[in-house]
Amino acid sequence: MDIENFISVSRTEGPKLASALEAHVKDYDVEIMNLQKATKLIPARTEGGYHEVVLENGASLKGRTLILSTGARWRQMGVPGEDEYRNKGVAYCPHCDGPLFKGKRVAVIGGGNSGVEAAIDLAGIVAHVTLIEFDSQLRADAVLQRKLASLPNVKIITSALTSEVDGNGDRVTGLSYKDRNSGEEHDIELEGIFVQIGLVPNTEWLKDTVALSPRGEIEIDARGETSVPGIFAAGDCTTVPYKQIVIAMGAGSTAGLSAFDYLIRLPASEEAAQAA
Ligand SMILES: Cc1cc2nc3c(=O)[nH]c(=O)nc-3n(C[C@H](O)[C@H](O)[C@H](O)COP(=O)(O)OP(=O)(O)OC[C@H]3O[C@@H](n4cnc5c(N)ncnc54)[C@H](O)[C@@H]3O)c2cc1C
Repeated sequence: MDIENFISVSRTEGPKLASALEAHVKDYDVEIMNLQKATKLIPARTEGGYHEVVLENGASLKGRTLILSTGARWRQMGVPGEDEYRNKGVAYCPHCDGPLFKGKRVAVIGGGNSGVEAAIDLAGIVAHVTLIEFDSQLRADAVLQRKLASLPNVKIITSALTSEVDGNGDRVTGLSYKDRNSGEEHDIELEGIFVQIGLVPNTEWLKDTVALSPRGEIEIDARGETSVPGIFAAGDCTTVPYKQIVIAMGAGSTAGLSAFDYLIRLPASEEAAQAA
């Protein structure tokens, strides 16, 4: 739960930061609707018109501006033991959880940029890193692969399908994988598994509304605006390259300022027509 990279605070915890945010927002005239899920977006038909967000309970909210900030979730391997040992050795965030594995053996699943960066990062903290890639070669940038290959405590296994997270009931004790060339099953003893096979943005409900990248992230410009005028987006659900708290907060400010800017530029006649 520790957060140690939020500028101005040496160390805090997720729930503590979230309750401080909630207390701060309550200083203002902002209505909070907890436990509501947005399921559908109906963009305004004309510029300056009202966008509509339909909630799971059937209610709908309308606004001339809208900021989407639904975040993202880690992609899971979907193998036996992954759920059972989550936070008991199975981790998804190397920057957050890496220090917990100091001096231990870990695996990183995934040989894309995130996986290779994670393996390089972890190699400086843990005793040994095994990087496991499904494909026959790593997909990370060459410069990252060269750096990884230069590290003495890293082993790279390609063409490997992780088949199970092994544990003793309390903690992870290893993982099993299948060699996709020979079909042989192998076991590795270790204490931690970092799953780095991608982040899935929570944007399924936005399909066919705002433009999404091939990975499902909301495409935004430098002002945080989406492909639909008046709809802005911020944080992990967008194409922003780094998914971190301080970045999401800054992006939220950008989107907020841009929404304000959009509203004050609406022609007076349209505003009056909308209000009528
Ligand atoms: C275990 C863990 C540890 C982390 N540690 C750190 C760290 O130490 N430092 C750091 O900088 N970053 C850390 N991160 C990353 C950080 O949490 C994210 O970058 C940040 O929270 C992104 O903020 P966000 O507002 O974009 O999305 P989120 O914080 O994910 O917020 C999105 C919100 O939208 C809600 N939502 C989603 N879909 C819908 C919907 N359809 N309708 C209504 N609501 C919806 C979600 O329930 C959630 O409350 C960590 C992430 C995890 C998972």
